[in-house]
Amino acid sequence: MTVPVDAVPATAVVPVLQGLVNAVVEAAEERTSQMGKAISCRKGCGACCRQLVPISRTEGERLLAVLDALPVERRAAVQARFAAADAALAQSGLRDGLLDPEKRASKTDRELSTAYFALGIACPFLEDESCSIHPERPLVCREYLVTSPAELCAGPAQEGVAPVPVPKLSAAARGLQDETETWFPLALLTAWSQARRADPVNRTGPEWVQRFLKMLGSK
Ligand code: SF4
Repeated sequence: MTVPVDAVPATAVVPVLQGLVNAVVEAAEERTSQMGKAISCRKGCGACCRQLVPISRTEGERLLAVLDALPVERRAAVQARFAAADAALAQSGLRDGLLDPEKRASKTDRELSTAYFALGIACPFLEDESCSIHPERPLVCREYLVTSPAELCAGPAQEGVAPVPVPKLSAAARGLQDETETWFPLALLTAWSQARRADPVNRTGPEWVQRFLKMLGSK
């Protein structure tokens, strides 16, 4: 892997993490194929893009830059979808807990994700049932593949969905800048950006990768 030798923000090494996750996912796909199973995920099926997508601070900062770089009209459309998702989560009573790890501590991740999915909120980056930022999509989106029929992914409790076992490298990106960091939902990216306090830290590329591998080892 190639990383910057100079001190850079963590967002600069996200492409390296994306490459690592891609390689792990490709290996999982190959293993699935060798077992005689086929991946049923296809372009145009956005059922999983209505799930709670937990992302790290580093990925959040990267996605904010992606959002800022969009042409004005497109950015406005995506921002409007973020605002609508924020309002829907606020109305449901889930919003504050999803943004605050202490407030959601009484619920399991499973309970949170089931309640979130029931709201049917599409990811603000979903357009025509396809990911509009596919090359920049979060690590956890890359790790989600299924071999079960695509229509099962839209079921309220996801009964019968058979995910491909993929080691979750995405979890190691949480805590990359600060070990106390946790996740927040992608749909609340703009709300999260308004509330965050800490300035990004700069480290050399090798230091970031070593931190990532250390986090991976602790998972
Ligand atoms: S970022 Fe892309 S792949 Fe991930 S949930 Fe959103 S639309 Fe789907």
